[in-house]
Amino acid sequence: MMDNRTGKGLSFVKRIYIPRIIGLGIGLISVAAAVAPLSLPLWAWVLLLFNGLLWPHVAYQWALRAPLPYQAEQRNLVLDSLMGGFWTAAMHFNPLPTVTVLSMMTMNNVAAGGRRMVLRGAAAQVAGMLLASLMLGTGLQLNTSQLQVYACLPMLTLYPLALGWVCFRLAIKLAEHKRRLSALTLTDSLTGLLNHGAWKDLLLLRFQACQQQQQAAVIALIDIDHFKTINDTFGHVVGDCVLRQLSEELKRNLREGDQAGRYGGDEFCVILPGTREDQACQAMERLRERVGNYRNPQLPHLRISLSIGLSAFQPQLQSPEHWLEQADQALYSAKRRGRDQVNFAAGEVTTLRLAYPD
Ligand code: GH3
Ligand code: MG
Repeated sequence: MMDNRTGKGLSFVKRIYIPRIIGLGIGLISVAAAVAPLSLPLWAWVLLLFNGLLWPHVAYQWALRAPLPYQAEQRNLVLDSLMGGFWTAAMHFNPLPTVTVLSMMTMNNVAAGGRRMVLRGAAAQVAGMLLASLMLGTGLQLNTSQLQVYACLPMLTLYPLALGWVCFRLAIKLAEHKRRLSALTLTDSLTGLLNHGAWKDLLLLRFQACQQQQQAAVIALIDIDHFKTINDTFGHVVGDCVLRQLSEELKRNLREGDQAGRYGGDEFCVILPGTREDQACQAMERLRERVGNYRNPQLPHLRISLSIGLSAFQPQLQSPEHWLEQADQALYSAKRRGRDQVNFAAGEVTTLRLAYPD
C-alpha cells in the first residue's frame, strides 16, 4: 500500500522535498517581482516569505510525522496549488508570472499524482484565487514589466531541470528494480542457480548454436541418490543444506561458460559447451568424487552420492527435448546400475562405471 509508513509513502515525501525547496524558493522571486508594485499588506508579505522559504520544511516534517505520509504529502501538494492560485490573484493575474506559477505547479502535480492530482490541484488553484480576491480585493494587471520577465527566468529554467532530474533518478531506480526482478524470475531461490525455465531456454539456444555452427556440447543431469532418505533421516533443513552444498560444488567445479541449473527437486542440470565427451566425463567424475568425499563432523553418518547422466550433442537429434531425453535415459541407467556413477547416453562412446568403493 502507498500509505505505508515505512514504504513508498515516506520515499514519496522525500522525493518531493528538494524539488519543493527549489521550486518555491525561486518561485518566490517571480511572485515578489509581480506583487512589488501593488500595495500588499504586511501580512501578505509575511505569508509570501513563509510560503517561499519555510513551507517546504514545514510540509516535509508534517508529512514525515503523519500516520499516513503518502496522504499527508498529497494534502501538501493541494496546499501548494491553493497557495499558487492565491498568488496569481494577488499579483492581479500578471500574465507571465501567472502562467509560470500555474504551469510549473501543474507539471509538479502531474509528475506526483497524474490526472487525479492535476484535477485536485486545478480545483485548489481556483479556490486559492477566490480566497485572495476575498482577502486582498480583485484587480487585473495585463502587462508584465521587463524586470518581472527576468524574475520569471530562474523558475522557467531551473525548475524543469530539477523536476527532470528527479524523474530521471526515478527512472534509473525503476530500471534497476526491473533488472533485479527479472534476475529473480530466472533464479532458483534455494540454490541461486538457474531455475528450470531459464535453463531450458539456454538449452534451446545451445541446441540451435550446435546445429548451426557444428559445435560440440554435452548436457548433464545430476540426481542425488536416495535423497528422500537423507530428508527422512536428517530432516528437510539438512536436505536443503545438501542441495545448497551441491550447487556450490557445481559452481566451483564448472568452467566459465558452463551453465548450471536446478532442474527440480534433487535434480540438477548442466550445459557444457565446447566440451568433448571425455572432458565432460572427467568433470562429472570429479564432481561425483568430491561430493562423495564430503563429510560433516556434526552429521558423521551423512553420505551423499550422485548419479549423473550425460548426453553429447549429435546432429541427428531432432530437438532439445530429445537431447534432454537422452541424458535422462543415461541418468535412469546410472540409477538402475546401482547409482553413484556417471553414465553416457547409450549409443555413444563409452558407458562408464568407474568403481567407487561402497
Ligand atoms: P533416487 O536415488 O532414486 O533419486 O532416490 P530419491 O530419494 O532421491 O528420489 P526422489 O526423486 O523420489 O526423491 C526426491 C526427494 O527430494 C523427494 C522430495 O521430498 C525431496 N525434495 C524435493 N525438493 C526438495 C527441497 O527443496 N528440499 C528438500 N529438503 N527436499 C526436497
Ligand atoms: Mg534423487
